Amino acid sequence: MKKRVVVAGGGLTGLSAAYYLQKQAEALEITLVEASDKFGGKIQTVHQDGFVIERGPDSFLKRKKEALELVEELGLEHEVVSNHTGKSYILKDGELHPIPEGSVMGVPTSIKSLMETKLLSEEGKARALNDLILPKMPAFDDTSVGEFFKYHLGEEMVDHIISPLLSGIYAGNIYKLSLQATQPQFIKVEKESRSLIAGLRAPENTNEGKFATLKSGLSHLVDKLAESLNQCSLMTGTKITGIDKQEQHYSLQLSSGQQLLADAVIFTIPHDMTAGLLQAPYLKNKQADPNTSVATVAMAFDEEDVKMDKNGTGFVVSRREPVSITASTWTHMKWPHTTPKGKALVRCYLGKAGDDDIIHRSDDELTQVALENLSTVVNIKKQPHFSVVSRWEQAMPQYPVGHKQWLKDVRGRLQEDYPNVYLAGASYEGVGLPDCIRQGKDAAKHIINSNLLSRI
Ligand SMILES: Cc1cc2nc3c(=O)[nH]c(=O)nc-3n(C[C@H](O)[C@H](O)[C@H](O)COP(=O)(O)OP(=O)(O)OC[C@H]3O[C@@H](n4cnc5c(N)ncnc54)[C@H](O)[C@@H]3O)c2cc1C
Repeated sequence: MKKRVVVAGGGLTGLSAAYYLQKQAEALEITLVEASDKFGGKIQTVHQDGFVIERGPDSFLKRKKEALELVEELGLEHEVVSNHTGKSYILKDGELHPIPEGSVMGVPTSIKSLMETKLLSEEGKARALNDLILPKMPAFDDTSVGEFFKYHLGEEMVDHIISPLLSGIYAGNIYKLSLQATQPQFIKVEKESRSLIAGLRAPENTNEGKFATLKSGLSHLVDKLAESLNQCSLMTGTKITGIDKQEQHYSLQLSSGQQLLADAVIFTIPHDMTAGLLQAPYLKNKQADPNTSVATVAMAFDEEDVKMDKNGTGFVVSRREPVSITASTWTHMKWPHTTPKGKALVRCYLGKAGDDDIIHRSDDELTQVALENLSTVVNIKKQPHFSVVSRWEQAMPQYPVGHKQWLKDVRGRLQEDYPNVYLAGASYEGVGLPDCIRQGKDAAKHIINSNLLSRI
């Protein structure tokens, strides 16, 4: 008899898990269960008046191979476009300042650009240069991203350059975010070179990641993936509401009232939901802050009605700046394919750790806040033709210091209590799209290599 695998959640992680299971194991009966009425989770593309608007992620890092590999396997390579590299800025004291050239995630690699920036005071620059002579940080198992960069480069650098750049990815408090789980490459640089500035200047590290997306929007990847799952049973509009462990298998309760039997389950839904379904108190991570909520406001204009730097692609906002937006992407500049000729598309982000209530305001209010904040640095002559507001409640997982060890322990205990139940997705080993694909693929591999198949 075929073994039954249920994949919980049809975001990119769940779709990838089902895809690699189907590809590598014909002897499985695979069911993918998605609560909402469509697949994709946070990936949602809107097509309106010739614009391609992403409500959630707009691109993926090319340096992490899993996304491009999957895109090619699905025959979508002709759709791939890379970002237009222009100037990005940081908003500080009401003005846009260019991010010092050659920075890697805010860490300077060019002393000249560091000396020229107006983002730091003379003391702040001198403190950053201390990194060249400081010893390594005293040994640690894990520390926060904020403490690590503060030690090497000083608090000013963290507040005005590093924190705004990282907040765009995690919308979190970087003094709580785990270095090991979110930015492990910097631990390697410190280990090898002691100084971050010197280590990142080495030729192999100067290549900052470039981004790619699909011309017709990232939902095309989701649609292709779902279409390729022709050996799987696909359920949408169906929530998993419970799981019981029985002698030889699991019984999953569905919102439709049905039951689904499974020999193995991959949970790719947000962790707090998984923790609510399994009887395993150790799944609650006491160190973790609640996921942060964010909103995005995409606004469509005539090009002549918004005046910004012709080579600019957008800005992030310094930590103590008194505005509500945290970043703004000038999408028509960064991704020209998204915008009809003569038009402009600007996306603003709102919501950060400890200050995410703002997302509950109405669409009109959020659009007005975004416009007001934006117009302090961009000359906007007319209201947008339309705006697309997207709210992402508790969508950004926060990996606290010690996250990796916690995950290792939890996975170990779970395999004893719930054999063949796996955890994958943005809550665990990376929030980026390539990380999600890799986690789906790894979960599939675990099942294929487990003794489950050898018992068929
Ligand atoms: C605004 C925003 C911008 C972002 N930008 C980028 C970017 O540019 N690049 C990048 O790489 N990443 C970006 N990210 C992160 C990335 O989008 C996510 O980390 C990734 O899409 C998560 O995929 P996932 O499958 O793990 O989870 P999700 O997409 O959250 O999918 C989980 C799925 O599980 C379903 N579900 C929940 N509960 C149940 C249940 N009980 N039963 C069945 N189904 C259930 C949900 O409906 C959902 O479809 C961004 C995220 C946001 C919010």
